[in-house]
Amino acid sequence: MDNADYAAVALRIANADLSSLDEVRAALHDEPWWADRLHANDLPLLRAVGAGLRRALDAMVADDGETVLAEINALLSAHPPRPRLSGHGGHDGILNWHVHVAGPDAPAVDEVAAAAAWGLAQGVVQHGTTRWGRCGAEGCYTYFLDTSTNQAKRFCSPRCANRMHVAAFRARRRT
Ligand SMILES: [Zn+2]
Ligand SMILES: [Zn+2]
Repeated sequence: MDNADYAAVALRIANADLSSLDEVRAALHDEPWWADRLHANDLPLLRAVGAGLRRALDAMVADDGETVLAEINALLSAHPPRPRLSGHGGHDGILNWHVHVAGPDAPAVDEVAAAAAWGLAQGVVQHGTTRWGRCGAEGCYTYFLDTSTNQAKRFCSPRCANRMHVAAFRARRRT
């Protein structure tokens, strides 16, 4: 993966339906190098990673820094990133410098797990813990990172925000 937004990878794994390989591949569709090389027998490991990520994100939402530390460090210990400088993907003779978190021969699942653990750790370093949230729309439990200046994000997407605004409007009209 090039110039990866590893925090986004962490969120995608945390939010993905990890019950089937197709769902996992859909969640990682813009990283075909990973998606195409994952196997059905990688699912138990990915589920464990997803559960750890969600525990860390829940702790951020609950403002429980000790648990954030413990959960993310557990993920990093279990799936240590192995940084490797890479230059592929450039053009006109200019290398495209970026860092991979696993060696070129590592199984895709190892790289995805390390990328998610590293991504969440770096995300906390960069954004702190208060910008991570969970969608407030009914039936949606999607985690998100709020990078807006006023930090007022309550829903994962415009779709969920609209859905809840329409529901609130209907509820007001009923009374
Ligand atoms: Zn690369
Ligand atoms: Zn939502």
